[in-house]
Amino acid sequence: MVKYQEPLFRPPSEARSLIFQVTLGCSHNKCTFCYMYKTKKFRIKPWEELYREIVEAGKKYPFIKRVFLADGDPLVLEAPHLLRILETLYRHIPALERVSIYATPQNLLEKSPRELDQLRRAGLHLVYLGIESGDDQVLKETKKGVDSREMVEACRKAVDAGFILSTMVILGLGGTPRWREHIVNTARVVNEIAPHYLAALTLMIFPGTLLHRQVKEGKFPLPTMRQIMEEMATLVKLVEVETVFRSNHVSNLLPIGGNLPGDREKVLAQIEAAIPLTPDTPLPTEYQGAF
Ligand code: SF4
Repeated sequence: MVKYQEPLFRPPSEARSLIFQVTLGCSHNKCTFCYMYKTKKFRIKPWEELYREIVEAGKKYPFIKRVFLADGDPLVLEAPHLLRILETLYRHIPALERVSIYATPQNLLEKSPRELDQLRRAGLHLVYLGIESGDDQVLKETKKGVDSREMVEACRKAVDAGFILSTMVILGLGGTPRWREHIVNTARVVNEIAPHYLAALTLMIFPGTLLHRQVKEGKFPLPTMRQIMEEMATLVKLVEVETVFRSNHVSNLLPIGGNLPGDREKVLAQIEAAIPLTPDTPLPTEYQGAF
């Protein structure tokens, strides 16, 4: 059977997928806002163990149509290893139609276009990636490990290779002083990438992260809830490419979504109606499960 090493994360849209942890933890694991894999040391699951799990899952769940590969950035694996995983999945799970994966921009930059093409042809379908911000200063301060030019290059490689690209950005990640630059540059980067999906999450401060310490020490002035709404409105105004926009994560103050740019006016009207009703008080200094 598939054995999971907690904590285990997956995108909301992978709720019906069978998850295989082909790597454990995140090979980067440095982002100042991220708590997800702080308790795990990055490692690759041994092939024998993974092979056994896939074969057994194929016998037990032959009807499974979707598989999601975890943990934080399994695309870090060498292309031949990933091809072997994909080939084994499709051979042993007869109904399998699509395989999705979490990736970092570094993972994509390290792969050649030919390798990405091979992976797509082998049945890797959808890549989830955190852009977080398009502002170089915010990317540097949050230790994302790439600048905005590299972020665009990485994401374009995914799109050009034929993957469906689902991206996330974080409202509030520039704090108070840099909110405009953060969101304007994020929209610029999104326009250069043209991802198929764009999710706007709201910043959550998790205990144990460097950002939490910076907040406690007064080094990161927290955005207000109203500022978050204004960031979302600015993002929706500035995104010009076709993308499915969602802001319905548990972190969001106002669940909203639509196809941009077609639904822009409708989405904007909802946000602008909510702005005066949104308290101008800072986000919680610690995420406690709900706002
Ligand atoms: S790359 Fe992603 S999973 Fe890894 S530390 Fe950064 S945000 Fe977290």
